[in-house]
Order: sequence, then C-alpha cells, then structure tokens
Amino acid sequence: MDHFNYRDGALWAEDVPLTRIAAEVGTPVYVYSTATLTRHFGLFRQALEWTDHLVCFAVKANSNLAVLKLMGDLGAGMDVVSGGEYARAKAAGVPGDRIVFSGVGKTLAEMRQAIEGGIRQFNIESEPEMRALSALAASMGAEVPIAVRVNPDVDAKTHEKIATGKSENKFGIPIARAREVYAEAAALPGLKVVGIDVHIGSQLTDLDPYRQAYAKVAELTQVLRGDGHAITRLDLGGGLGIPYRRDNNVPPLPLEYGQVIRDAVGHLGCEIEIEPGRNIVGNAGVLLSQVIYVKEGEGRNFLIVDAAMNDLLRPAMYGAHHDIVPVVEPVAGSEGRSFDVVGPVCESGDTFQKGTSLPDMAAGDLIAFRSAGAYGAVMASEYNSRPLVPEVLVSGDQFAVIRARPTYEDMLARDSIPGWL
Ligand SMILES: *Cc1c(COP(=O)(O)O)cnc(C)c1O
Repeated sequence: MDHFNYRDGALWAEDVPLTRIAAEVGTPVYVYSTATLTRHFGLFRQALEWTDHLVCFAVKANSNLAVLKLMGDLGAGMDVVSGGEYARAKAAGVPGDRIVFSGVGKTLAEMRQAIEGGIRQFNIESEPEMRALSALAASMGAEVPIAVRVNPDVDAKTHEKIATGKSENKFGIPIARAREVYAEAAALPGLKVVGIDVHIGSQLTDLDPYRQAYAKVAELTQVLRGDGHAITRLDLGGGLGIPYRRDNNVPPLPLEYGQVIRDAVGHLGCEIEIEPGRNIVGNAGVLLSQVIYVKEGEGRNFLIVDAAMNDLLRPAMYGAHHDIVPVVEPVAGSEGRSFDVVGPVCESGDTFQKGTSLPDMAAGDLIAFRSAGAYGAVMASEYNSRPLVPEVLVSGDQFAVIRARPTYEDMLARDSIPGWL
C-alpha cells in the first residue's frame, strides 16, 4: 500500500497534487511519501515484535538526509556500505551504536572513520579485511564488534545482478569455512565476535531462499557456540521484494517474513537485525516527468519524456519494469494507445518501456514512474550534463525540496581548468 492515489481526477502524493509539485519544482523530480515510509518501517518492526531487534535501513536504497532523518527518528538503525553513507547516517542524527557497516571493500580510512564515530558492528566479508580491521582497531586501542558475513550458497531466485548468496558471488565467506574464520577472529586483537551476518540478495519474491539460508545460519550458530563463541546477534540482511507491477502477484509481506525468521532462528535467543531497503522506500516514491514530444514513428509511437536513464537507471541496467501512469486520471473504459516511453539521452538503452498502453498523450502532459523510491535517485548521474534530478518529500498537505536541482552554474563550478591550459 502506498499514498499515491488519484483524487479529483489527478494523481496526488498524500494531500498534495503532483501537478503542484511539477509547477513549483519542475520536472523530472522524485517525490516521496512520509506516510508510506513510516508505514513500511512500522511493518518490519511489527514483524519482529516477538524479539529483541533492530531494523537497519539499507542506506544505499535511498540516502537522502531527510529520508534518513525520518527513519532514524522512527528508531531505525542504518546499514551502510561506504564512508559516505556512514557520514550521511551520522549527519541525519543516527548514533553510531545503531550503524552497521557492510560491504566487501571497506578501506582503512572508512574503518577508522566508523571506529572513531562509533559503530554497532562491522560485517566482515573476507579474511584480509578481518586482519586489516584487527590491526587498525588494535593500533587505536579499540575493540570493535564484528559479525562475519557467511555466504550460504543459496539461490535467491532474483535478477543475477542483485543475487549475492551463491558461492560464485563476491560476497561473504563460504559457510563451510566459517568455523576456521571465527576461530581466527577470536584470536585476533581488536575484534569482538558478536554474531553472524547473511544477506542473499535483493528483490526476493519468494520466502524459500530465506528459509534455506536462515536454517544454515541457525545450524552455524549452534556449531559456533559449541566452539566457544558468544553468538548473541544475527544480522539476517535485507532483500524482501516489492510489487513493481500493479496487476502482479504481491510478494510476501513483512509479517510473513518475520514468521520465517521466527521459525528458523527464534529458538536461539539472539537479538535480530534485518536490513530492508527497497521494501521500505521503493513504493514510497515516484519519479514525476513531463512529456516533451510525441513522436510518431514507423509502426511505433515514441513518448519522449524529460526523465532519462541518468535519472532512473534501473530499466537500462536491469531491464527493470516501473509502472508508468498518467498524472491526469484516465477516463474509465477509454482506449489506450501504445507508446515506447524513452528519455532524451543519446543511448538506445534510454528506454523505459516498450509498447506500454497509455491514454492519448500530448506534449506537456505529466506522467509518474511508480515504485521509484529505491535505487532511483541514489543511482542518478549527470550524464549528458543533465542536472542531477531533485527530490521532494511530502507529509500530509505539505512538501519540501530535500535535494535541489543544481543550476548550470553549480554544475560548471565543480570543474576547474588548470592554469597551464
Ligand atoms: C543492498 C543490501 C541490503 C538491502 O537490500 P534491499 O533489497 O534493498 O532490501 C541489505 N544488506 C546488504 C548487505 C545489502 O548489500
């Protein structure tokens, strides 16, 4: 459920008509709903009500400071994968002891930053990384909490570019080698083993891969405890999928996911962390865009819109689908026309959808790409020197620009021409 609905013949975000945002901020622009974000976060919290837990928002899905502040104020922890994300989480007011640091290539500078600023735990992804963190922490006189990310060799049955739990993926250490790695961790200075971490992929629409992975984690917990390690915390990752098509089967709900967790690891008495990103923010955002031209081609009609692959990369990168809807509510029963919806960027990959059915459109009409709140703005670039797409947050009948569109001056000022040229 989200808070983007037709009202009085037009699409609104909560109590704000999208036409108003387009008029005041311009297009393209991302629009997020506070009510949807709050609702989705609450569902995960409810799903883990039965135990001590922390829902860590995966910052990489949407790292706008206002979104992070909203999440943090609701009590969320943060899962970060870079020093930049760590800095954002801190700037949004999230204390270090609610920040988990994941990622396969943490640099010494990033690890130092997090140790100095406070950290809940590092999720270790390899032995070289573990040794580097140990040496750094010891040199700083610190003892840092760690979990080792295990790769359970489970097929997440999702897009290959976002599957992370198969043995051929670069993530984590093979679960079969976990005992060895934990033994080394326990012997290294500067590290304190607190738990186990697993994350098998993103946009999972089936609970079975979770069942398989979490069963392996439960078994490993017992084995490691037998070896004398204090496993008190399980970080079970993120990845629960969302419906990208309105008419499609709805993926499992957070409550069902919570039940899978309870069944698999509930008996272990561990504190549970999860790291949802997409499921919290995906359907809490739309990308609002305007038609520039309707171009009648040979056997195809192109809707050339002012959003492009640099603003929303998912279709070009993953072949992802986003429902495209007109901002003016279509008249019920009216005939649609078939359009290829494309952006102005000079790449054929700059195609959002082929043969999509929309009401007859004209230049100046507004459309919205649904489910664009996750992995949307964060992946945007200024390719073709198109200004970085701005972001707006709605709450009730108010809205605010939470990232402004840069002017050409702003953009040019970032470059400098050396004196010797
Ligand atoms: C990307 C990622 C997540 C979030 O995945 P979603 O599909 O957005 O829920 C969580 N944990 C880790 C380690 C990740 O890399």
